[in-house]
Amino acid sequence: MPKVTPYPRAMGETIATFITLPRINKLLSTLIRIPSPSGEEAALLRFIETYLGQHGLTVRRQQVSRNRYNIIVHGGNPSRPSVLLNSHVDTVPSYTAANSVARRVGDTIYGRGSCDAKGSVAAMLLAFVAIRRSSDSANVPVDLCFTVGEENSGDGSQRYVQDCRKHAWAIVGEPTGLRIVNCHAGYVEIVLTASSVRSHAFDPAGEQAIIAVADLMLEINRGSHRRGKKPVHTFVHWIEGGDRSPFWSVGPSCKAALVVNTYSKEEIASILRLARTCCATAARKHKGVEIRVQTEGSEEGLDTPRNSPVIEFLSASLHSIGRDRGVAALPSWTDGARLCAAGIPTVVFGPGSLKDAHTVQEKVNIKDVRDASIAIAGAVMNWHARSQS
Ligand SMILES: [Zn+2]
Repeated sequence: MPKVTPYPRAMGETIATFITLPRINKLLSTLIRIPSPSGEEAALLRFIETYLGQHGLTVRRQQVSRNRYNIIVHGGNPSRPSVLLNSHVDTVPSYTAANSVARRVGDTIYGRGSCDAKGSVAAMLLAFVAIRRSSDSANVPVDLCFTVGEENSGDGSQRYVQDCRKHAWAIVGEPTGLRIVNCHAGYVEIVLTASSVRSHAFDPAGEQAIIAVADLMLEINRGSHRRGKKPVHTFVHWIEGGDRSPFWSVGPSCKAALVVNTYSKEEIASILRLARTCCATAARKHKGVEIRVQTEGSEEGLDTPRNSPVIEFLSASLHSIGRDRGVAALPSWTDGARLCAAGIPTVVFGPGSLKDAHTVQEKVNIKDVRDASIAIAGAVMNWHARSQS
């Protein structure tokens, strides 16, 4: 473990005096008040551009689709590898009106996006501006990138890795409870289709497609949970079948999509094998039902070695401000997977809990946002100081 301060002494005052609770409160509340569900990020992007512009920073737009772009700010000499601070500006929908306003109770801020991932966006904005206000600012090779579309297609990060600068490492802001995540899940999505012969509901010619699909889903769910130590979750994305006709008959078809989180390429393959085996069993068991499985898509997760410098610097930085420096796994996919696949040693890190993300009670602790911001700035400044020496 390197001996470090949260930030080199000369920069300390700038960082400590800039990253304050009132500043975080104001910035984060504004970010929450500007809705940015995936696909409708334009207003928030404009606010962030203005904010960065007010701090004298030049913003580059990287077009992703119509009215949608990633925001990029470069720092340091472009010929040298930089480190990257990335988070996503989109959120899931608000679901309730109360959720689209920012509400503060003590040290907690509630509202859509508070932890996923506007708390991280605020932490990274302040960390980046604080670094750029330091006396050595022009030399610190750090880039800031805010991506769109993380919550549905991941199109923002897909676009970013197509032509990004060379990065020594990256921190991706997501709610991890300030734990350093070096490993997180990917997933595989499987579509199950069954059809049965239409016949009298209470004297059917064969079994019902819906029951066969339900049975198959339960079997895949049971089989998936027998794997490894990491948390496995099976999620029914959607299911359709039957009809509302007043004339009772066995419905002709059923279709469902099932998503299982996975931690490696091998696990994706093993879930597909499991699905095919369960499908063959279900076909034998449910006479008269034609049933099949196909892959809708899959994404690999994040897997960054424990001895990676990004973990060393972030861990030392957290320790120096008295925070726990645990390294953990996350059961969900993030943009970090794309950076990792592009060969950038990446960790996911930020304030708030994944348990609160996507809920109607989404929240974040403002002191955690401050500590995340200081820890991130410290990690960058200490890495820079060491690479200079
Ligand atoms: Zn997120």
